[in-house]
Amino acid sequence: MNRILITGGAGFLGSHLCEALLQTGADVLCVDNFFSGDKDNIRHLLNHPYFELIRHDIIHPLFVEVDEIFHLACPASPIHYQYNSIKTVKTNVIGTINMLGLAKRIKAPILFASSSEVYGSPEVHPQPEIYWGHVNPIGPRSCYDEGKRVAETLMMDYNRQNKVNAKIVRIFNTYGPRMATNDGRVISNFIIQALKGDPLTVYGDGSQTRSFCYVSDLIDGLIAMMKTKEFTGPLNLGNSVEYSILELAQKIIKFTKSKSKIIHKPLPSDDPKRRCPDISLARKVLGWEPKIDLEEGLEKTISYFHTKLKLK
Ligand code: NAD
Ligand code: UDP
Repeated sequence: MNRILITGGAGFLGSHLCEALLQTGADVLCVDNFFSGDKDNIRHLLNHPYFELIRHDIIHPLFVEVDEIFHLACPASPIHYQYNSIKTVKTNVIGTINMLGLAKRIKAPILFASSSEVYGSPEVHPQPEIYWGHVNPIGPRSCYDEGKRVAETLMMDYNRQNKVNAKIVRIFNTYGPRMATNDGRVISNFIIQALKGDPLTVYGDGSQTRSFCYVSDLIDGLIAMMKTKEFTGPLNLGNSVEYSILELAQKIIKFTKSKSKIIHKPLPSDDPKRRCPDISLARKVLGWEPKIDLEEGLEKTISYFHTKLKLK
């Protein structure tokens, strides 16, 4: 049986990955310190015979025996990763060294969940993997952006120096059920505001763009990347259809049939102006393509938040 470690397994993406890997018949070991994750995300898996949960902070060494490592542990939303920015750097640097040390000792492939944030506020559009980025090293987003960049460096150095089978995936904005209600990311914020009838808070004039990938597509991409032989990446995974934040707000008001208005708030500093992945490499290497468009993905996500908010 394939034994798989998922760090950050109680988070938004991690919990979907745990579920998907259990469905393939794997034995899943979920490790999380519950900083931004939630036991509710994995509660339904706790009685599964091949699911195991360890509460552990990856800035401390971990000694386990597994066949593959998906390394996702790191708060992903600006509110969460800026809450304790020094801890965010430690998680990305010390945590990644610990996971790479583990991968080296047990000779297991390790996939690192990097981010489109390694491109910073990009001057090249859409962003291909060969673009080195335009990143502020000293701003409020740097703990995350530079943390991910050092983690990528470590992945490549362990690969070159210690022959670790390292795989880097750069994830672009991904959304879906189990996004935390308090993490301030744009899709969860707008849906919750629209469902409550509160104004939707568009930062700046809303002309900044993002492209939004539905969670099941992203999970398919992560699993396909792990199956590749000796391919380090980095590899972009995301949806390449780009929307302005204002357009997104209008769509969410329409799909929720909300009477909410749109209000504007100041744009946070270093907020990237445009972001959209070039996914030609993922198409070529993995034969991967997002299948769920924004309308279908929003419908599923709205229905999740509708149920969640009614419970409270
Ligand atoms: P999330 O915050 O929901 O999940 C992260 C998980 O890691 C949480 O369960 C958290 O408790 C755990 N964690 C954080 N620090 C830890 C530590 N020191 N030790 C153990 N566990 C720790 O975020 P997510 O959206 O599921 O993101 C998962 C990964 O994917 C992150 O590495 C993130 O940077 C990356 N990513 C996500 C997106 C996205 O759009 N969702 C985009 C780019 C990159
Ligand atoms: N955003 C917004 N209103 C919100 C939350 C976010 O206008 O209530 C904007 C934010 O400024 C950014 C975009 O939406 O331009 C995406 O923000 P998110 O935090 O989801 O992700 P990231 O900035 O990391 O792409």
